[in-house]
Amino acid sequence: MSVPMLEISRGTLQSNIAAVRAQIVPSELMLVMKDDAYGHGLEWAVDAADGVSWFGSYDIASALRIRARRQEARVYAWATSPDDEIAAAIEAGVDLGVGTLPYLRRVIAQAALLGVRARVHLKIDTGLHRNGVRPEDWPAFVAEARAAEQRGVLAVVGVWSHLAEASDSEDDEAAGEFRVAVQSLRDAGAEPEVLHLTASAASWWRPELRGSLSRIGAFCYGVRSADGPQIPGVLPAAELRAQVLSVAGDVVEVGIGSFDGLPSTLAGAVIGTPAGARLLREVGAMTSLVEAWPAASEGDLVTVFGRGAQGEQDATALAERIDTVGEEILLRLTPRVRRVEVD
Ligand SMILES: *Cc1c(COP(=O)(O)O)cnc(C)c1O
Repeated sequence: MSVPMLEISRGTLQSNIAAVRAQIVPSELMLVMKDDAYGHGLEWAVDAADGVSWFGSYDIASALRIRARRQEARVYAWATSPDDEIAAAIEAGVDLGVGTLPYLRRVIAQAALLGVRARVHLKIDTGLHRNGVRPEDWPAFVAEARAAEQRGVLAVVGVWSHLAEASDSEDDEAAGEFRVAVQSLRDAGAEPEVLHLTASAASWWRPELRGSLSRIGAFCYGVRSADGPQIPGVLPAAELRAQVLSVAGDVVEVGIGSFDGLPSTLAGAVIGTPAGARLLREVGAMTSLVEAWPAASEGDLVTVFGRGAQGEQDATALAERIDTVGEEILLRLTPRVRRVEVD
């Protein structure tokens, strides 16, 4: 038996980051690292991302892993978290995203206990209704944050929100609400250092919506949006490969299956082989069947998704077949899939 391999390319991650930074300048990149750096491996991604000065981790546990490798970087965690984690984040100098009044109060309480100023980014809900303070509650929220700032236990360093990216007009409306919230915070005497609203797609295509920071994950890893175009200068940082285990007539059996996280509903997709694109006929538990090619032999490598060198598609194209997003194809891969570093 052979295990499938996710080949992760440091050079590609770096050139994607360079392309993204060039596109969004003067907005600065916050490289989003959630879900173990979109399945690529958090430590690997942090080490590869030299020159990046802001990291977005989602949860505090991951933020501390980033901090352990990058003492000088700004690290941002926006998941509503338990008190002991809040305390650990404040001690490690991790910036916290705060989107509810109870959470603001818990952060203030932990900072007061430690006697350390907690750096926070306040979240206005601009329509997504996931997390974030509604505009009608914003003035009271800002007042409590400002009072804590004046007591020396808080520093309001940012304002942020998240866009639905469903339509330009909704995003425009959200950006309008965002600007109003920023203004009211400034009117209350705060001087936020950073403003951030946009993720990959809006950061790339809607320059007028970018803040001073852009929180970007997908495009840095080379994952384009579902039903979205290829991004110029950006390639998949990860390619998924498996070995041919046996050849039997017009099919070959390859060493990857649904237990590795390959959705069985991907049967019917094309994948890459040494002879070009071939049909993925059937996805079993541990192995799958692929349409054969002349001279196929045991040990040959097929590419399930990647940059197209063997005729394969990208992860997003596979995702589109089953109505999901490219990130899901990456995140489903199980620990049995070995991460292999390549240049
Ligand atoms: C995941 C996430 C991002 C990054 O989104 P991409 O589309 O991967 O760039 C940004 N902000 C928040 C709040 C997120 O959850």
